[in-house]
Amino acid sequence: MVAQCIDGKSIAAQLRSEIAAIISSKCQQGYRPPGLAVILVGNDPASHIYVRNKRQACAEVGVISFYHVLPASISETELVTLIHMLNIDNSVDGVLLQLPLPSHLNTGTIIDSINPAKDVDGFHPYNLGRLAQRRPALRSCTPYGVMYLLDHIGQAYKGKHAVIVGASNIVGRPMSLELLLAGATVTICHRFTRNLAHYVQQADILVSAVGKPGLIKAEWIKPGATVIDIGINRLADGTLTGDIEFEKAKTRAAWITPVPGGVGPMTVAMLLKNTLIAAGYSPTLSP
Ligand code: NAP
Repeated sequence: MVAQCIDGKSIAAQLRSEIAAIISSKCQQGYRPPGLAVILVGNDPASHIYVRNKRQACAEVGVISFYHVLPASISETELVTLIHMLNIDNSVDGVLLQLPLPSHLNTGTIIDSINPAKDVDGFHPYNLGRLAQRRPALRSCTPYGVMYLLDHIGQAYKGKHAVIVGASNIVGRPMSLELLLAGATVTICHRFTRNLAHYVQQADILVSAVGKPGLIKAEWIKPGATVIDIGINRLADGTLTGDIEFEKAKTRAAWITPVPGGVGPMTVAMLLKNTLIAAGYSPTLSP
């Protein structure tokens, strides 16, 4: 068996062009373009790259981005005060707080201060709670992007066993809630899981979100499984790789995402989609 690659790059490009068309049509009808406030705290080089890519994607589809670059020394009160101002600013539909934050800031407290209706990352407890209660509102971008890819390939969920490796608040946990909502039987593995291979071997849908290259061995993968690799790891030679042994896994899976070019581009596309939803443009977008 040779797996079919899920081309997140082209699927995301298609979604971005649909978003651009909706914004253009709204603007022609006299509506203002959606606005996204992007907050970047400190000097983490990877965060600067992610924010640059997100702002570029905004510009390409016609979302106005308001950029707030803040020193690493900023206090929690100052940051929360800025967020409160953005919460009541009518030109701002979405507030994106780039993570991670410097260690003196309490990430939970800061996320709590974002108006849930502007929480386009879908990290606020309100939005995660809505997803847990089967009434999703704004959904976490990466898991939402994975669901978009799975829907795109016509993935069946009911009666399938989905195994998620990784249980962080922003990726693994909302991913498990998305797959549960879709009707899969869900197992979540994490740092304390004993015998990871045992669970991975049962997965009809396998999603890894850990950040450890080669953690998931190809021989564990159930023949015919759908394999989604969210992990992004930079190797010593500068290349990017996921958590799963990609080349060997391709000989067992039916569908697989590459790294790069799989889930990554979808995360940014879903951020744009969430910004449109937060702006009240209620788009109907494929698939
Ligand atoms: P994180 O906060 O570090 O979470 C990693 C998770 O993996 C934790 O839940 C941890 O368990 C679990 N874990 C650690 N070692 C494990 C092991 N040996 N076996 C099973 N589980 C283990 O990271 P994250 O923010 O969720 O990101 C995960 C990966 O996805 C990273 O590579 C990140 O770069 C990537 N990512 C990609 C995108 C994208 O757009 N493609 C977006 C976001 C993140 P505990 O909870 O028990 O500590």
